[in-house]
Amino acid sequence: MIYLNGTFMPIEEARISVLDRGFIFGDGVYEVIPAYSHTPFRLSEHLLRLQHSLDGIRLENPHTNSEWSELLEQIIARNSSDDQYLYLHVTRGVARRDHAFPKGVAPTVFIMSNPLLPPPAELLATGATAITAVDNRWLRCDIKGISLLPNVLLRQMAIDAGALETVLIRDGFMTEGSASNIFVVKKGLLLAPPKNNLMLPGITYDVVLELAEEHGIPHEVRAISEQEVRAADELLLTSSTKEVMPITRLDGRQVGGGVPGTMFALFYRLYQDYKDKVMRRGAVHTP
Ligand code: PMP
Repeated sequence: MIYLNGTFMPIEEARISVLDRGFIFGDGVYEVIPAYSHTPFRLSEHLLRLQHSLDGIRLENPHTNSEWSELLEQIIARNSSDDQYLYLHVTRGVARRDHAFPKGVAPTVFIMSNPLLPPPAELLATGATAITAVDNRWLRCDIKGISLLPNVLLRQMAIDAGALETVLIRDGFMTEGSASNIFVVKKGLLLAPPKNNLMLPGITYDVVLELAEEHGIPHEVRAISEQEVRAADELLLTSSTKEVMPITRLDGRQVGGGVPGTMFALFYRLYQDYKDKVMRRGAVHTP
């Protein structure tokens, strides 16, 4: 069951106009929110980022946070999996094709849910393979826009190379992955690139840095050069659906010892514990 412009319906019945600006121009933004045991994870942070994305494209938020929360709760209840990932999408609506913003047009609001499966244990045991590529996206990668063509092409480069993710390098520095944030570990120090217009401010990225702070794990947020990525002891990939994952091969070469490292093991455990803690608290609001 999905939600489209005020109505819940089976996904097969959902229809939008071919003139929707999301379809014509990729003129919209989205969020992906994991829900564990029927409870959205870090919901207020996701809704804050949604607001940032909407502000970035100058589109008024069609809902208050409590309305979003209610809609998401409804979608979760109408889908059966315990753990789901919620996809929420807002476009500038339907209008005659013209680049300029239309006036008086209602936005299109779409929400769907899919089962959220944890990353396969064997992948976590061996670690993922990644390649690098030049980050050829625009200069507002902090907006979670639905115009994902560059990310699609960059991710496909990884798939074509038999890899999981493409680590992006812009002007000699690492920005993020095509659909994830990337951390570097060197000599026991966790390094994260600073949030700016060149990367998506990941919700999982924030959780990792909060956990580092809370548990006194040495960490630094600063620009990370391509050389530092290539000389890393460990590379960690984070995203709402992949959580924390080790990258053990980059461009066909081993990362560190070529197996998941101790920093990965530590953050994997801390992340699972954090999820459990938050979800137990969240469970108060759900049956
Ligand atoms: N960067 C990009 C480009 C992404 O697509 C994603 C995943 N949506 C992330 C980073 C990770 O963000 P989050 O932890 O909020 O899923």
